[in-house]
Amino acid sequence: MTTTSPARAARPDAPARPDAPSPAASPAPAASPALEASAPLTVAGLETRLLTRPLTRPWGPDVTELHVIATRVTLSDGSVGEGFTWTPTIGARAARSLLDHDIAPFVQGRTAHPEALWDTAWAHLHEAGAGGLTTIALAGLDLALWDATAKRQSTSVHALFGGTGAPVTAYGSGVNLHVSTDDLVAQVGRWVEAGYRAVKIKVGSPDLTRDVQRLAAVRAALGPDRELMIDANQRWDLGQARRALSAFERFDPAWIEEPLRAGDLAAHRALRGATAIPIALGENLHTLHQFRDFLEAGVVDIVQPNVVRVGGITPFRRIAALARAHSVELAPHLLTDLSALVVPCIGGRVRIEEVEDASFGHLGFLAHPSPVARHAGTPPTVNVEPHVGLGLVLKDD
Ligand SMILES: [Mg+2]
Repeated sequence: MTTTSPARAARPDAPARPDAPSPAASPAPAASPALEASAPLTVAGLETRLLTRPLTRPWGPDVTELHVIATRVTLSDGSVGEGFTWTPTIGARAARSLLDHDIAPFVQGRTAHPEALWDTAWAHLHEAGAGGLTTIALAGLDLALWDATAKRQSTSVHALFGGTGAPVTAYGSGVNLHVSTDDLVAQVGRWVEAGYRAVKIKVGSPDLTRDVQRLAAVRAALGPDRELMIDANQRWDLGQARRALSAFERFDPAWIEEPLRAGDLAAHRALRGATAIPIALGENLHTLHQFRDFLEAGVVDIVQPNVVRVGGITPFRRIAALARAHSVELAPHLLTDLSALVVPCIGGRVRIEEVEDASFGHLGFLAHPSPVARHAGTPPTVNVEPHVGLGLVLKDD
C-alpha cells in the first residue's frame, strides 16, 4: 500500500519555494545546516514504494535479493524530498508498513526539520521498540527530509555537513562464507588486482578447521602487508569466540567484526580481555543509547553504525559525535553510496566498505548515476561529485 496525502496550502509565513536547484551550484560552507529555512515548513505527505533487485553475487543461499523502500516527502510549500530505507532480506514490507500506517499520518502537519521531527517520531513509535524496524523505517523519513533541506539551499547533503568531495579510502568486502575456498581466494585475488590495501571476509563456519584453512589461503593471497578484516556476523557464543580468535591470531586480523550477539554487552566485556584482536561492531546496534553503553564499556575499537539501521543521518551524526568523544574510529557499515555522503559527519580516519558488485547503481536501483564516484588506484577511493540534495534517486519500480 502506498500512502499519499494531499499537499497542504503553504503557511503565510513560509518562505517562498526556491527555484529548481542548479547542478552547477557550488556547495555551501556548512558547519551547521541552516534551521531557519526549514523551520516554518511542515510535512504535507509521505509516500513509499518497494523496489527489489536480485543480487549479482548472492550473500547466502537464502539471501539472493535486496529490498529498498523509496520515500518521497511533500512539504507544505509543495517542495519534495526523496530518500529511501533498506533491508537486505528481513522486514522490508514491515518497515514500509510502519512508514505508511504509523509514520506518514503522524508526521503530517508537523515540522519538516529533520532533527526536530526525528525525535518526535521516534518517541511516537516507542511501543514498537526503540530500534530495529522502527529506526529502519524512520530512516526513510529522515533521508527524504535531508534531501528536501539540501535542495532548498541548492546544495548537497554532503556539502551541508561540510563535505568537499575529498577522496576516501575504500576496502574490499564480500559476503562469502558460503562460497568455496577456491572462489573466496579468487575474490581476494580480484581485490589485490584492483589495488585494495585492506579486505574483509566472513568467518564463523560450523567447523573451525574450515575457517582456519580459508584464512591461511586468504592471508597467503594477500601477503603480509595488506590488512585482513574478518566478520563473524554474531555466529559465536563466548566460548566459540575465544577458541576461534585464539586460532586466528596468527593471521594478524585487523579486526574481528560482530564476534558475539550484538546486544550482549556482558559477553563482549568477557571477550575483551581474551583477545588482542581489535573488536568492531555496531551494524546491528540501533540507538544512541546502545552505542553509548558499548563505548563507555570500552569493549569496541571500531564502531560501525549503518546509516539506515540507526534511523538516518540525524541519529548517525549523534553517534558519530559520541564515537569522537570516546576516540573510537567509526567505519560506516555497507551502503557505500550513502555512507560516503556522510563522511564529513565522522571526522578522523574513515574507511568505506565496498561490497563486490553490490552498489545501488550496479544492482539497478538508481534512476540517475550515483554522486559517489569510484576511482581505481592503490588503494581504490571514492569521492562525492557536486550535486544537489541527497543525490540518490531511485527508479519508479
Ligand atoms: Mg558485518
